[in-house]
Amino acid sequence: PNFDAYIPLDTDTVADRLSAYSAVAGQLGGAPADWRVREVGDGNLNFVYIVEGPEGSVCAKQALPYVRLVGESWPLPLSRAFYEHAALIRQAEDAGQDAVPEVHIHDGPQALTVMENLAGHVIWRGALIERQRHDTAAIVLGRFCADTLFRSSDLALDPALKKREVALFSGNDALCRISEDLIFTDPYHDHEMNAVTPGTEDAVAEMRADTVWRVAIQEWKWAFMTRSESMLHGDLHSGSVMVTPPGGGERVRVIDPEFAFYGPMGFDLGAVLANLWLNAGAQPGWGEGWQDQQNWVLDQGGRFWDAFAARFTDLWRTERRGEAMVDRVLRDADEAALEAMLARIQNDALGFAGAKMARRIVGLAGVADLRTIPEMDARAACEIRALRLVGHLVKEAAAIGSVAAATDMARDLL
Ligand code: ADP
Ligand code: MG
Ligand code: MG
Ligand code: MG
Repeated sequence: PNFDAYIPLDTDTVADRLSAYSAVAGQLGGAPADWRVREVGDGNLNFVYIVEGPEGSVCAKQALPYVRLVGESWPLPLSRAFYEHAALIRQAEDAGQDAVPEVHIHDGPQALTVMENLAGHVIWRGALIERQRHDTAAIVLGRFCADTLFRSSDLALDPALKKREVALFSGNDALCRISEDLIFTDPYHDHEMNAVTPGTEDAVAEMRADTVWRVAIQEWKWAFMTRSESMLHGDLHSGSVMVTPPGGGERVRVIDPEFAFYGPMGFDLGAVLANLWLNAGAQPGWGEGWQDQQNWVLDQGGRFWDAFAARFTDLWRTERRGEAMVDRVLRDADEAALEAMLARIQNDALGFAGAKMARRIVGLAGVADLRTIPEMDARAACEIRALRLVGHLVKEAAAIGSVAAATDMARDLL
């Protein structure tokens, strides 16, 4: 076969096709006939195969020229696989190889990345829905965000290199466009791809009738589109986090950065908070014992922010080698500048958290935490309460001012 032309993999061809890459064959051991292949993709966009050989296993992820969830009617460029592998490499450099799966090979024309198989890990969203408690996840993610956001920004990088990085990731415009549409646009008008839960129509209509809300969401969109602060993961929800069973030695990894681009730091932070708050909001729909679990989940938002702020502060004090926020100007005011920057990032995180929540309640691709609540009435009630929190976050982020204050509000409203 001509491997220069893009050919989609399928379960029957994966072994032969992967045997062409010596780094992969070496990892698996034995011959292609001995390799076991299964497709495990549960995401919205791509195909993911786990391949097990006599000596090891790998994970092969291939992009399709369209959106898996919707089909060929929604084309999407194969280049997203390139940006995903480029982001995985940078995240490993900035946050440590333990933070993300290691990339074995990337094949651009095939839109294929073969990476470390995270054997024994499950998706955190599923674990949260089952009410498992991974006590280190919030801390690991807070640190991950600080490491990747600080070290890819003008706080750390030479300005010329930073601009080249911005230019490189600008090519991922099609994935940015999905976020621009699905998060900041479609939920706010009668778009055919929205999925409004029966019983929530009035709450959704109220949101769309609210002028302040509509102006605020467009301001968040403006920030998302124009503020090239850091290399973002771009899709940092609880379905992009994999964990081993909770308890001593639990491991936490970040996957799936195909939406990576240069944007505002608060966007990744807001994604983590949004998905915690969506899960917290869904807890009453999952019956008995929900208060206790909801409290635990809400506590994780605060722990996440605190871990981020602590690590960001460390990096500010020890690794500020870029040309933004320089000591020769700040002198004795560098701690004041840090405080101001953290305050702004925190406000942004709250606003983007609200934006991300609304999109998962009203738009295409809702979250399982809410969408699989068995009783429709209970589900609608959870979504209405969550939307109320969203309104405060999107419109009043600056007045709320802190993740701690937003958490109190969430305890009240959800
Ligand atoms: P998509 O971009 O389509 O959302 P993901 O990268 O999120 O694809 O992967 C889909 C699923 O494949 C994940 O939910 C996870 O179960 C599995 N998966 C992805 N990467 C790995 C990996 N490195 N090791 C093991 N399983 C993985
Ligand atoms: Mg995914
Ligand atoms: Mg993805
Ligand atoms: Mg100093």
